[in-house]
Amino acid sequence: MRRILVGIAAVALVAALAARAEEQSTAKGPNDDGTKPALVKIAGEGMMDSHAFQYLTELSDDVGARVTGSAQAQKAVEWGVAKMKAIGLENVHAEKWQLWRGWTRGTAQAELLTPIRRPLHIDSMGWTGSTRAGGVDGDVVTVNMFDLDNEMKNMSRFRGKVALVVTRGEPNKSFIQVFVQLGDFLRAAGRAGAIAVIGGQGGGTAAGMNLTHTGILGFDADFTVPVVSMTAEDQGQLERYIARGLTPKVHFDIQNTFTNGPAESANVVGEIRGRENPEQVLVVGGHLDSWDLSEGTTDNGMGSSCTLGAADAIMRSGMKPRRTIRFVLFTGEEQGLDGSFAYVKQHQAEMANHLGSLILDNGQGPVRAFQLGGRDDLIEAFKPFADSLAEIREVKIDDKVEDGTDTLPFSMAGLPGINMDQDSPDYKYTHHSAADALEAVKPDILAQDTTLMALTAYWIADRPERFATPWSAEKTVKMLVGQHQDGMLKAFGLWPKAFAEIEKRDVPSN
Ligand SMILES: [Zn+2]
Repeated sequence: MRRILVGIAAVALVAALAARAEEQSTAKGPNDDGTKPALVKIAGEGMMDSHAFQYLTELSDDVGARVTGSAQAQKAVEWGVAKMKAIGLENVHAEKWQLWRGWTRGTAQAELLTPIRRPLHIDSMGWTGSTRAGGVDGDVVTVNMFDLDNEMKNMSRFRGKVALVVTRGEPNKSFIQVFVQLGDFLRAAGRAGAIAVIGGQGGGTAAGMNLTHTGILGFDADFTVPVVSMTAEDQGQLERYIARGLTPKVHFDIQNTFTNGPAESANVVGEIRGRENPEQVLVVGGHLDSWDLSEGTTDNGMGSSCTLGAADAIMRSGMKPRRTIRFVLFTGEEQGLDGSFAYVKQHQAEMANHLGSLILDNGQGPVRAFQLGGRDDLIEAFKPFADSLAEIREVKIDDKVEDGTDTLPFSMAGLPGINMDQDSPDYKYTHHSAADALEAVKPDILAQDTTLMALTAYWIADRPERFATPWSAEKTVKMLVGQHQDGMLKAFGLWPKAFAEIEKRDVPSN
């Protein structure tokens, strides 16, 4: 018996090794697949004559902050169209889509009245409301985000008060569920007549350095109660008073405006058409919209200028890929990946011809990994290409789905939504804050990231074999569940009906 098993195991091992060897021999990189001469030219343009920092400077200083749906965002769209035309892309146009509601930041002023008097540093979270004109005085009371079940039993105690979100003990549910329940609390606080809520991104505290961090509190989520981000230093002082048994009194005056109906936005699109299979499309992009406490340079002027810089480097190399590279500057990312979800919807009929998407949106640092967005089957094919970049930078590969940017809608469509992950330790300070300005970006890092984006885009579009075709919905559901993305998607109502039906069919409830 044992002998037989060992024998079978040995045969199986030989077969596995043979299959492996065969797989490896079919995965060709730039050295063997004919793409290298073009990549060398593109790398030369990208590293020696990059225009990316010039684009980033214009976008930061001349366009400035560009909140989706605002007049400044429209100006950014016009700027993007003009840049793509100047670069020489084809089919340059804006693809309109509708934001559920527009929002404009007004003013946010706060003062500590007791036990000492001094100004407090706050800024409104996006798509949240206003206090009475002239502001209101009120006591600060805490609300434990990790125990909202109990906190929400008596909402009347928040009437005429400023609720300070704190985290005490251990949450009795997942962080996603806690975040979703925070939305329920904010709605209830508005109904109960709370003055405002102090609770930044995800209800958490700011990163320090006396910075506030704005942002949205869900996917397409708006709240009538004013919600503010307070600097960690000011919030710490309030918490210390409360821990000592004191009740700080504050004056809050917060003014924002919502539009009555939906607001218009648009993704900016331009192409380098493929020379052999123009109908097959790789999307390359970043998001053009930003928050408005500064210039939106690191989030995501970086991705926008990489996208334009990559297009420019490829155009000036004179090289034409086999398949189409479609450069897209998405809007609405900050409100819930709205622009990229709109893109996938508007291009539904064409999605079978897509090869994937390549996105950069993780701050100002150097690229350190390609996350292949759920497609573990592509790691083998991608590896020789990643290896060929080693003399520019070591870049790792994995198959993780990035759910925090425009990669997600492509991964949900069964395509590799490739995230160019970056090493950006300062991003925790710059993103969504008053420090998100041109000072945060080093031109050499931007040129390198841009070049890596251009090379990756060109290699995927030009290699002899098609890089990827979309997975079936069945396979995609299995992957998303395997990567634990289903909980978040369901909690925010983003889990498509078709996915729910597949789950019901495949996992019959008893
Ligand atoms: Zn971003």
